[in-house]
Amino acid sequence: MDYKDLSEILFPDITLTADDYEKMYPERSLPEGAKVTRIAPSPTGFMHLGNLFGAVTDERLAHLSGGVFYLRIEDTDLKRQVEGGVETIIKVFDKFGLKFDEGVTLDGEKGDYGPYRQRQREKIYKTYAKKLVSEGLAYPCFATEEELEEMRKEQEAKKENFGYYGKYAKYREYPMEEAAKRVQSGEPYVLRFKSQGNPENKLKHTDLIKGLIEMPENNQDIVLLKSDGIPTYHFAHVIDDHLMRTTIVVRGEEWLATLPIHLQLFDTLGFKRPKYAHTAQLMKMEGESKRKLSKRKDPELALSYYDEVGYPVPSVIEYLLTLLNSNFEEWRIANPKEDFNKFNFTTKKMSVSGSLFDIDKLRDVSKNVVAVMEAKEVYDYVLNWAKEYDEAFHSLLARDEKYATDIFSIGRGGKKPRKDIAVWSEVKDYMGFFYDELFSPSYEFPENIKKEDILSVLEAYKEGYRECDDMNDWFNDMCTVGSKLGFAPTTKDYKENPDMYKGNPGDVSQVIRVAITGRQNSPDLYTCMKIIGYDRVIARLTRAYEEVK
Ligand code: GLU
Repeated sequence: MDYKDLSEILFPDITLTADDYEKMYPERSLPEGAKVTRIAPSPTGFMHLGNLFGAVTDERLAHLSGGVFYLRIEDTDLKRQVEGGVETIIKVFDKFGLKFDEGVTLDGEKGDYGPYRQRQREKIYKTYAKKLVSEGLAYPCFATEEELEEMRKEQEAKKENFGYYGKYAKYREYPMEEAAKRVQSGEPYVLRFKSQGNPENKLKHTDLIKGLIEMPENNQDIVLLKSDGIPTYHFAHVIDDHLMRTTIVVRGEEWLATLPIHLQLFDTLGFKRPKYAHTAQLMKMEGESKRKLSKRKDPELALSYYDEVGYPVPSVIEYLLTLLNSNFEEWRIANPKEDFNKFNFTTKKMSVSGSLFDIDKLRDVSKNVVAVMEAKEVYDYVLNWAKEYDEAFHSLLARDEKYATDIFSIGRGGKKPRKDIAVWSEVKDYMGFFYDELFSPSYEFPENIKKEDILSVLEAYKEGYRECDDMNDWFNDMCTVGSKLGFAPTTKDYKENPDMYKGNPGDVSQVIRVAITGRQNSPDLYTCMKIIGYDRVIARLTRAYEEVK
């Protein structure tokens, strides 16, 4: 019996060859320098910031170079899988505006390099496994859990490296006839790689983010196929990224430790190695020290959090770009209105050690992003958010689009736009006073003004109130009312003789502001009053008067 015979016994159903697959999935014809990237999440139902962090990198690298960005589903681990997990992945990335050119979709898949679900690729993995067996580079291993546990104990006692290698690799040189018999009798086995590596030798790898790395070669006979025939991550990664012609593998730095295995497999199988970009962990400050973001402690790790709180998608992406590329912020300051897709994203500017995630910084970024949006755009976003998370608010907004858009227009468009809004869930509080249904005033009038003066301001102002098309006229009206009641006609007058007056024009307008908006701070009062309209202005002045009285 030779290796070829053994491979036939192990994989009798596999009739195609590696060459057939090479032909089926040829090199892609893409322009020079075009990059092929992918994300390869497992459908666990939990999508976290790290997934998005990597995906933005992949998407930018592919699309800035005229390449391909695709979605592969790594569903080999049934235990970690949840119902609807794939759907969640697709919907989340869609929400964040990341467009896949190929891969799994809601109703199947698209692209010429599929199937893109690993469970559907079993035959492909087995074909390459068969090839390795036929070349004497993979073998069946019958070691039981107990045997492996024994081995671990012995290694611990002797202070030797853990794992299945060298003299511990019991089935490495097992007689083929014996192996064949045990397989034919239905005994379970895993398929192991027969490593040719020697840890005395150093392997050199230039990572796109980490730079030059030297690591010992792998000498572990790692598992390629588990006893149910499903590949391990190591094997599936190498086969898939080769056949799908990925040129850059972007993944978390937790995979760096097993990189020697992957490079060895690429070499042994005669595949061209892809480039790798191992991204740094997302960290956050806790007191004085940095720590990894945790699922248990940090709600902001879950991508669903951003949706619920209503972080605008472009804000989150922008913020991730500031974390990913150290020069993004500078570019943004120089190009405040430019589409972020114009930024020249590069792995060269990526952080080698952990990136510090700071939610306050995200809020600041978001305020800037929202400040330069058109009012209609803000309206659409808020409407959309409220539709899912606040039905009552949604119907108020939907009732009168023009009214809401006018509100969002306040302070927008000029050189220094207002920066009031960071997240959509705070918008209701910000603009609620414009809606009678939401108006719940807190009448905190200026403390230096006596109650009777507040009352007379409210009364007199209401008496003479007219809508003005000019802000100066509006302001003059207010000053006139004030000066008749003993307030200074101008701020200058007040400054010169404060004792002669009950207050300055600012006090008068503050009284009106509190009455109309029910709060001490509001966007430009003149505009607010115009939007609220004559009748409701009068009604609010009356109501404030009654409540103070
Ligand atoms: N399924 C792996 C993960 O979710 C993919 C890693 C990779 O991108 O290769 O971590």
